[in-house]
Amino acid sequence: MSATDYDVVVIGGGIHGVGVAQAAAASGYTVLLLERTALASGTSSRSSKLIHGGLRYLETARFGLVRESLREREILLRIAPGLVHRVTFHIPVYANARRPPWMIRAGLSLYAVLGGLSRHARFDTLPRARWDDLDGLDTRGLRAVFRYEDAQTDDTLLTQAVMRSAQLFGADLRCPANFLSARRRDDGFVVHSLEGKDEHTCRARTLVNAAGPWAGTVLERITPRPAVLPVDLVQGAHVIVDNETRHGIYYLEAPQDGRAVFVMPWQEHTLVGTTETRFDGDLSAVNARPEEIAYLQETLWRYFPGHRGSLLDSFAGLRVLPHGSGPAFRRSRETILHPDNPDRVRLVTVYGGKLTAYRSTAAKVMRMLKRSLPARVARAATSEIGLSP
Ligand SMILES: Cc1cc2nc3c(=O)[nH]c(=O)nc-3n(C[C@H](O)[C@H](O)[C@H](O)COP(=O)(O)OP(=O)(O)OC[C@H]3O[C@@H](n4cnc5c(N)ncnc54)[C@H](O)[C@@H]3O)c2cc1C
Repeated sequence: MSATDYDVVVIGGGIHGVGVAQAAAASGYTVLLLERTALASGTSSRSSKLIHGGLRYLETARFGLVRESLREREILLRIAPGLVHRVTFHIPVYANARRPPWMIRAGLSLYAVLGGLSRHARFDTLPRARWDDLDGLDTRGLRAVFRYEDAQTDDTLLTQAVMRSAQLFGADLRCPANFLSARRRDDGFVVHSLEGKDEHTCRARTLVNAAGPWAGTVLERITPRPAVLPVDLVQGAHVIVDNETRHGIYYLEAPQDGRAVFVMPWQEHTLVGTTETRFDGDLSAVNARPEEIAYLQETLWRYFPGHRGSLLDSFAGLRVLPHGSGPAFRRSRETILHPDNPDRVRLVTVYGGKLTAYRSTAAKVMRMLKRSLPARVARAATSEIGLSP
């Protein structure tokens, strides 16, 4: 193979693409990542920015997902202290709550067990005398306030940091570079990309489709056409409002339908999210809809009646969920790794997933590709590579 050939070509510079680039480069493979717009320009800058196990996934019995995410949270807190920090979560429980205190207590107990029962995995209730410290939280009808710890990040900075780390291990980044097409050969793919007006060609032993909501479009550009997994896109919106939330994150039940909504401190303002709205529009124009903004503002005002901070911004991202009927919340949030051929994998498509678990997702992708790659000398384990903003 010539100098422009790679062991792994990754399409998409969101958290999954950069995670795979880092894992591959740290394992000694030659890597190229193609990103069409800018790193983290897709879903990976539009998340709730939580590095968490996902307490609510316990309601749908996703114990494996929660355990893995809690383990990843601890690794990220250790290797990326400038990017991921612990934050206190409050769950206020009101007289008319859908989830009564015993249910929250049971959920938090299980969460603590899955989190290894460490000092940081414990939870408690906030004494009534301290309820007035909670950023103006409405205390009428309040029965209990549970408190536990999870973590928060800046998703864009985390994505950029992981890519920088990949580059330090020798990965090439082309951005902006639009993946145009790939043609399958016996030993891999011939890959075409467009950078400005220039078309580039390289050869790839393996290909990773980490294009998030655009994964289906990428597969359409590969010849012969690989199987496509049927998925639904579900939009999640956030609003940013003036006035800082100072005492941690609030985990609330939206008054309209009881869904979980977070009110979070964010860059000296308050971030509120999220919604779940079926999406079938233009992927390049994903914006919070007026009714989503109203839903989030009503939730904020219901619990923080004095919070009249003005709307500063709003944004929305797309969850990629397995196709199905029924509410999005009931559907699997596990990352789906879809290989082209289970016996000898040359192409893996990443569907869905969590920011929190990007590192373990990348490790799984690399395990799937291993048989199609030459032996290389690994340089480091990603669980030991420090990340800084
Ligand atoms: C509303 C919402 C809130 C969330 N909150 C959390 C949370 O708090 N914590 C958590 O752990 N997870 C959260 N998630 C999940 C997490 O954000 C996503 O799983 C993750 O960001 C997906 O990253 P990705 O790399 O797969 O996709 P993306 O970030 O969308 O990246 C895909 C990239 O591919 C590029 N691309 C597309 N086509 C091409 C092409 N032809 N050529 C080159 N590049 C291309 C795009 O430009 C884009 O940058 C949330 C998700 C949503 C939707």
